[in-house]
Amino acid sequence: MKKIVKNDLIYFVFESFEKTGLVRHCFSSRKGGVSEGCYESLNLSFREDKPENVVKNYQILCDAIGSDYRNTVFSDQVHRDDIYDVTLADRGKGLITPREITEKDGLMTNIPGIVLVTFYADCTPLYFLDPIKKVIALSHSGWRGTVLGIGAKTVHKMVSDYGCRTDDILCGIGPCIGKCCYQVDEKVAGDFGRRYAFAKEHISPDEERGKYLLDLKGMNKDILISAGIRPENIEISDLCTKCESDLLFSHRVMGSQRGSLAALMELI
Ligand SMILES: [Zn+2]
Repeated sequence: MKKIVKNDLIYFVFESFEKTGLVRHCFSSRKGGVSEGCYESLNLSFREDKPENVVKNYQILCDAIGSDYRNTVFSDQVHRDDIYDVTLADRGKGLITPREITEKDGLMTNIPGIVLVTFYADCTPLYFLDPIKKVIALSHSGWRGTVLGIGAKTVHKMVSDYGCRTDDILCGIGPCIGKCCYQVDEKVAGDFGRRYAFAKEHISPDEERGKYLLDLKGMNKDILISAGIRPENIEISDLCTKCESDLLFSHRVMGSQRGSLAALMELI
């Protein structure tokens, strides 16, 4: 991913997505917003932050990427694998009007002018773009979503609902907690081992007895490949949210006293 710096504001973009000229998109950082305290400064979910600051933060980030913050759409996220087809009637839901879309961890659309938004603080952001059929999606893939294979499910839905070809789909795996830092217990490691033959390549024993280090990016990459995505069409951020917690909100570092990062994407 490429780092973009505009005065105080910092965000990231996938070069493969940018090159198509078909989308406006980004992954946010902590930098460049107006929130204070543990939300400092570019917090993009309401939590206990001042609502007017969160709205202002959206305005700042959307202005920078050329989107209209009033066209954002978001759901709550519940660490499952349900994906919602967003329509024009949904624009503004979450930020401008009540949230309404609930219990969805993936958002998808083929309609220009809708800014899809998903939230993060260590979980894995997955971006999808079919430049031929002009379909976009974002999926929130924490360890639970990854076990459930939300990335593969998103690909399948693009194929079944919009007639996409897997060979055409570009994927982006954004900043999340890295294999350097993501310690999980035996149960979580076992859940992956039972579900995926390739899991052992992405899980290694930690120094602490009974604990393992999980590579969420590698796991998601293999899940996408198993769904038919070409490896060369997957761009992966090398940032770890925990290592870079001055730049990125990390739940493992800050606990619940923190803001949220966001993935944004809009078809032009
Ligand atoms: Zn790390």
